[in-house]
Amino acid sequence: MATVTDPVCGMEVDTATAAGSSEYQGTTYYFCSMGCKRQFDKTPEQYAEAQEPQEPPQ
Ligand SMILES: [Zn+2]
Repeated sequence: MATVTDPVCGMEVDTATAAGSSEYQGTTYYFCSMGCKRQFDKTPEQYAEAQEPQEPPQ
């Protein structure tokens, strides 16, 4: 189980129960709702730049 930050709204999202996910530049982002995913998909560069890239534990 892993918790990540929804880049759109800043909420903590469990990757197992996330409403949606998108891959952008090799990184997978998870979202609390489909609304956040749609928002991200519109302008991924805006949200992807807002946070440090997170490397999953090996
Ligand atoms: Zn959200």
